[in-house]
Amino acid sequence: MTSPTTRFAPSPTGHLHLGHAYSALFAFAAARHAGGRFLLRIEDIDTLRCRPEFVAALEEDLSWLGLTWETPVRRQSEHFADYRAVLARLEGLGVLYPCFCTRADIARAGSAPHGPDGPVYPGSCRMLPAEEALRRRAAGHPFALRLNMDKARALAGPLAWRDHDAGLVTARPDLFGDVVLSRKDVPASYHLAVTVDDAGQGVTLVTRGTDLFAATHVHRLLQALLDLPTPDYHHHRLLTDEQGRRLAKRDRAATLRSLRQAGQSAAAVRAMVGFGGGL
Ligand code: GLU
Repeated sequence: MTSPTTRFAPSPTGHLHLGHAYSALFAFAAARHAGGRFLLRIEDIDTLRCRPEFVAALEEDLSWLGLTWETPVRRQSEHFADYRAVLARLEGLGVLYPCFCTRADIARAGSAPHGPDGPVYPGSCRMLPAEEALRRRAAGHPFALRLNMDKARALAGPLAWRDHDAGLVTARPDLFGDVVLSRKDVPASYHLAVTVDDAGQGVTLVTRGTDLFAATHVHRLLQALLDLPTPDYHHHRLLTDEQGRRLAKRDRAATLRSLRQAGQSAAAVRAMVGFGGGL
């Protein structure tokens, strides 16, 4: 592929750690080595967990690491109107339904098979009579919007995407069951916002960790339903500590900030994650 557009899309819920540095450098290098563009996106739809000070901090950390990106930086929290418009299109296709269930309701429904995002939703609200759903909506009961997976798949037909590591992958969105596309608290979900934004920002090569490999099944389906282009994907390995555990935000010692404060140079930190050859 010529001149890809890549992006790094962190959620500002804490300080960046070495795993983020690897992922950001991976996306940056994939673009730069091929004369492409590198973008930054702030994934802050979770308005309770995301904090503005972490946005400022992550931009500072990425600059320190030697990365540059095109502006403007897209902030998902500024695009709820876009997500609402897309949800209205999906409602128009008849592939969404309101779900009033609480986590406890879903847990009580019991023995659902496990999908990549946790227990597969048993579909209780899909079976709700339309009048009852309308009555609850009118009465102000909080609801999420779920994708009717069977209907959506029937509409889209068989799908695949290209992964630079795994090759041509057959899409299996059915593994997720009826995913949430609009949460009770915000008019979007991770799957919806990412798919809309990658298309909106013109991303042609999505690079991210293998922990999100399965999510691409759902994103591919949403692209088909919404007539959006399908980028290439490259799911990269996840960095682990000496014990083989995945680096996580709770491992404070591995934050880029703490490494910098301890006197490490940006070049040394880049080398730690395998990008020692210079940018
Ligand atoms: N915001 C996601 C994260 O921080 C990444 C989203 C993506 O790359 O698709 O894990």
